[in-house]
Amino acid sequence: MGATSDAGAKPVVTRFAPSPTGFLHIGGARTALFNLLFARHHGGKFLLRIEDTDRARSTEPAIAAILDGMTWLGLDWDGDVVYQFSRAARHAEVAHQMLAGGHAYKCFATAEELEAMRAGQRANKQPLRYDGRWRDRDASEAPADAPFVVRLRAPKEGSVTIDDKVQGSVTVANAELDDMVLLRSDGTPTYMLAVVVDDHDMGVTHVIRGDDHLNNAFRQLPIYHAMDAIEGGWDAPEYAHIPLIHGSDGAKLSKRHGALGVDAYRDEMGILPEALSNYLLRLGWGHGDDEFISREQAIEWFTLAGVGKSPSRFDLKKLENLNGHYIRATDDDRLAALVAPLLAFEPTPDQRDLLRRSMAALKPRAANLIELAEASMFLFRTRPLILDEGGAALLEGDARALLARVHAALDGAATWDTETLEAAVRAVADDAGVKLGAAAQPLRAALTGKRTSPGIFDVLALLGREESLARIADQMTQPA
Ligand code: GLU
Repeated sequence: MGATSDAGAKPVVTRFAPSPTGFLHIGGARTALFNLLFARHHGGKFLLRIEDTDRARSTEPAIAAILDGMTWLGLDWDGDVVYQFSRAARHAEVAHQMLAGGHAYKCFATAEELEAMRAGQRANKQPLRYDGRWRDRDASEAPADAPFVVRLRAPKEGSVTIDDKVQGSVTVANAELDDMVLLRSDGTPTYMLAVVVDDHDMGVTHVIRGDDHLNNAFRQLPIYHAMDAIEGGWDAPEYAHIPLIHGSDGAKLSKRHGALGVDAYRDEMGILPEALSNYLLRLGWGHGDDEFISREQAIEWFTLAGVGKSPSRFDLKKLENLNGHYIRATDDDRLAALVAPLLAFEPTPDQRDLLRRSMAALKPRAANLIELAEASMFLFRTRPLILDEGGAALLEGDARALLARVHAALDGAATWDTETLEAAVRAVADDAGVKLGAAAQPLRAALTGKRTSPGIFDVLALLGREESLARIADQMTQPA
């Protein structure tokens, strides 16, 4: 590790700054992940700021869901969470410094006046921008005690270029930006001011966020410049605006594409956190053809230069494939602990043990934890099993007679291990002049009630001698 070209001289500090108006969605989770990886790669800090200034839309459950989702994904932030709303007085203080320094001014325009101004602009097909009507007027011209907002005295000439670490060089003419509001008439800070003051006070060196915020960077930079002129030490951060995630059809990601809260991936889809994290990492960033990338490797390899410029497409199938890989790689203890709460009942200690022992046989076929839980259910069913349609079909014709012969052979098995059991069933098939499958399928139906299951000898071994023989016996004769 160590400094590479995309970090500066200062210790790296990044942050994730979600607005708690909804759950932690996958786009936000990916932004947080990139911030974490970049910080860790450079041995820096990754901070979390909850941007709860919009009091009407920020909710406690959303904050809880964001913290919970980040913890689940191992997006461990450094230090305490910063709550933006609690810093409103500090934001106002900066606005007043700017006012005193002449970098901001009081605007007494009334709502009606501004509406009339915009109507005129609309009629003339001009862009809707504050026209600077109070920029050069003195506050004494306003009626006594009239309410005012504080506006930035934005530069009018020239242009600003941002050397974005992902988007490259982007230039905006200052004439396109108006004198935005910093403090509202009730004294509360605007979002634009709060972000800059917080990033400065938190020592943020790299702002890595969705490219829907690129335009905001051009509005935020003049605040840095003004404060730097006033008191020094307000270096603008490096910016990296990452493309948004799109749906598989190329349209902006929405609910219908799977833009759900990360909790839905965990609770409703049975996705492992490392699978989601690996998947999000590779959405818009890559390391050659490497598909499975551990957190350690990601930290070692991550660079902003490796982030693509075009939106990446969310592909649920790929996520599920990756999840299957991680399920197979997960040890049986952890897997069983994750599956146990998904069962339709509270397992006893013995059942938990059986669940754990079944993982090796079940996990090769499962794409998610929900499937794994469903696949394990046959272990816990009570006799006599009710067969589903596919299972019942396997017991038609001569199958029950064959099942009786399998029962006899298994009953005589000296030991109850997969090798001995397989030899016993094979012997029955050979003797009856049928293929192994012809004997194994009715056995599968009798043991699991279904036509698909893990390897049948694994099933026998897991259920044990007594339960297996009893389940087989239950099905040897046609039910009345
Ligand atoms: N709070 C903003 C959001 O959730 C992010 C602001 C930023 O990263 O600067 O979109």
